[in-house]
Formats: sequence, structure tokens, C-alpha cells
Amino acid sequence: MLYLSTRGHPDRKHFCEILLEGLAPDGGLYLPERYPRVDDATLTRWRALPYADLAFEVLSLYIDDIPAEDLRAICRRTYTAQVFGSPEIVPLRPLEDGVWLEALSNGPTLAFKDMAMQLLGNLFEYELGRRGAQLNILGATSGDTGSAAEYAMRGKKGVRVFMTSPQGRMSPFQQAQMFSLQDANIHNIAIEGVFDDCQDIVKAVSNDLEFKRRHNIGTVNSINWARLVAQVVYYFAGYFQATRSNDQKVSFTVPSGNFGNVCAGHVARMMGLPIDRLVVATNENDVLDEFFRTGVYRVRGSADTHETSSPSMDISKASNFERFVFDLLGRDAARTRALFADALSAKGRFDLSADPAFADAASKFGFESGRSTHANRLATLRDTWARFGQMVDTHTADGLKVAREHLRPGVPMLVLETALPIKFAATIVEALGREPQRPPGFEGIEALPRRVTNLPADVAAVKRFIEAHVA
Ligand SMILES: *Cc1c(COP(=O)(O)O)cnc(C)c1O
Repeated sequence: MLYLSTRGHPDRKHFCEILLEGLAPDGGLYLPERYPRVDDATLTRWRALPYADLAFEVLSLYIDDIPAEDLRAICRRTYTAQVFGSPEIVPLRPLEDGVWLEALSNGPTLAFKDMAMQLLGNLFEYELGRRGAQLNILGATSGDTGSAAEYAMRGKKGVRVFMTSPQGRMSPFQQAQMFSLQDANIHNIAIEGVFDDCQDIVKAVSNDLEFKRRHNIGTVNSINWARLVAQVVYYFAGYFQATRSNDQKVSFTVPSGNFGNVCAGHVARMMGLPIDRLVVATNENDVLDEFFRTGVYRVRGSADTHETSSPSMDISKASNFERFVFDLLGRDAARTRALFADALSAKGRFDLSADPAFADAASKFGFESGRSTHANRLATLRDTWARFGQMVDTHTADGLKVAREHLRPGVPMLVLETALPIKFAATIVEALGREPQRPPGFEGIEALPRRVTNLPADVAAVKRFIEAHVA
């Protein structure tokens, strides 16, 4: 399988090349040349597989430059009951008739990002070992991505992590999770500023190509294809748990920010998994809901990006969305490039409302959408607790609220649980008047010794810190 850029660059690459690369050289995102189709007999065979072996089957369709036995070993090492809390890895729990929660958040950092990041850590270690190379990952986080990356890369040979975060702005639990790591290859940098300052610093360092090359700087952000393909697996696993035969369709509702998670659902559907609808749920930052309702994609400025109680969905633009638009336009790279040039320029938008392709988003690709506000979140948390005794996190609450507006008779609806409530305790207390349950192993983490360096929002200071720690 070869990979191409959504912006038409002529190069075609293998999986392990794009694994360490991130963006394509023309600024586009990598996609496989085609989506392998999975037939009925294969689906039936996959039904019986444990999660790690299912992951191997899906991944092996996309990876032709890692020997099969090595890839299988990596999958089995990654997806274990010890790390993910149950033999199913992503168990379903029922709510009202026809509605299920798919638990993706029982990994080391209690958010779904572990599902892909744990695999990425093992793939990086494998590939860097093969090349005898080193990678210094520089990232910016407002919470979930940073901790998932650090827990995936801790102790991994050949990898160091430099993770910037806005000082004092992550939830107390998130700060404790990250800053209590004592591994020598993990560096927490608390920036005196907001998340945008962190992101600007990462961009500035990455744009210094000489520094980037000299210090082997890489990223782990959600545009990495390896993360996306790892997420395809749990759409299959959820489908198999909710159905008895391949005639049955199911729908998924996905709490969305950068469109990474639901894009994996799109890939699963293109492979032939019987998915009826893919419902995109946003919070007040409704870039994606606006597009699926109107055909207008309008990037928000920072003044227009709201700080909400589902903060991991507080985005101004959806960085993975270009992948879907490329497919929607029949893989027309020139048009994709022109549209995203508009969206990322002063114009700040593009408009497909009058384009016949826009109707395909719903009719051909199965997309629907909805949005949820702080008041909706609180009401959903209360209702789900009162009726089912189930506590969900604020992002999953946004998903549930929107899912309930898109139910169809006879089609099970799977809502992806993207984090556990303990990560966002303040809003849970506001809604329910009680603290969320703390999973075993997380007692007292706020009191552990911390390993974090405070730095000003200054690119030179961050570069000096990196240089001093890559020896
Ligand atoms: C990252 C994240 C999301 C958004 O996922 P995308 O792949 O960016 O759409 C939703 N919920 C939680 C809890 C997250 O951490």
C-alpha cells in the first residue's frame, strides 16, 4: 500500500516513511491510494478475533513494510487487558434501548487517545531501532494529547518527549498525570501563556528547518496517519459487539474536535464496514456542525474560539478535515488544495453549499451532525446519572446529547466514550453534586512529586531547553 498527499504531491510513500514524517512536503495530509474493501467472509472471520489480532488484520492491509510477524507482535504487546482494563479492550455498555457506549477510555491516561498513541509508541520504538535513529517529539497540549503521548513514549528507546502546556490551565488531574512522570526521556514544559502560545512555539521551532534537522524534531499530532489507522480498529470491534450478523447496520456518534476520530470511522465505512450514519458531535466550537448543516467551512479566530467544559473539543479549525474533503471531491487534489488555501488565508472559509458534492456528505458518506452546549452537557450528565446510574465525561455527554437526536428505529447507535469523568471533575460536581469515581491506581496522584520546568512563552528559551536535554 502506498500513500499520497491530499494536495497532489507526486511522491508515493510506504507506511514507515510517513510514520515519522507527519505532514506531506506540500502541506497536505497522507491518505492510502485506495481503501481496501473487506468482504463478508472476512468480516465473519474477524468477528471471532481478540482485539489485538483484529488490529493486526486491519493494520496489515495498510502496512507493507513491516514483516507480518513483527506487526502481529507489536499489536499483541500494545492491546493487552493489563493496559486497557478488560479483555474486550473497548467493551460496550447499554443505555436506553438501541443506545450503547463504546468504552475507549480505560487506557493509561483515561482518554481515547491512548488507543492510537500506545500503538504509535511501539511503532516508533520499532522503526527507530531498525534505522538506528533518534526522535525528539515536540508537542503542545491542553490536556489529553500530552499525557497520552507521554505515557506511550515513556521509557521507549530512541524517543524523547518535550511537551509544552499552558501553565496552570489544565485540570488538576491532568497536571498530576503528566507532571508526576519521572522517566528521564519525558520533559514537561509549562509555558507562561495560553494553549495558543504553546502551539505557536511548536510551529516556530518546526519551521526552523535547520534546528529541526539537527535535533531530529518530530510530532505526534492527530494528523499522523498511523494514529488514524489505529482508530479504525475500534469501529470494527464496536460493530462486532453490537451485532450478530453482517446484515445489521449500526451508527456511531463521535465527540469531535480535530476530526481525527470520526475520520477513522469514515475509513472503516469506506472499507465496507456496515455503518449507517456517522454523527459528528461538537460543542460550542461548531466549525464541523456548521459545515455538515450548511456546506460552509469557516475557520474561527482565537476571539471566536470558546473555552468550554469539554475542552478537548475546543478547536478553531479541524486539522484532519482535509482528508474527508479530498474524498468528498472525488479525490481532486487541485480543488482540495485551493479550498484549504482559502480556508487558511485571510478569507478564512470555503463554501460547498452550491456544489453537488456537498449532498454526498450525507447521502453517500453517511455524515450527520449536531452541537451541544454547557447547559446541554449538564442536562445530559444529570439525565444519564438519574436514569441509568452511569457517569460519563463532558465530551461523551456532548456525544450522547447529539446521538439522541439522530436515532433511527432498528439501527443501534454506538456513542464513543472519549474520556472518563475523573479528568473533568469540576463539571461533574457542578452537574451532579458529587465527585466522579477514581479508577484504581489513580488515588492521590495530585500529591506525587512533580517533574516540570516553567519557561516564558519564548521560542529561544524552548530551543535552549531542548538543546540542553538531547545530549
Ligand atoms: C481529543 C479528544 C476529542 C476530539 O477528538 P478528535 O479526534 O480531535 O476529533 C474528543 N474528546 C476527548 C476527550 C478528546 O481527548
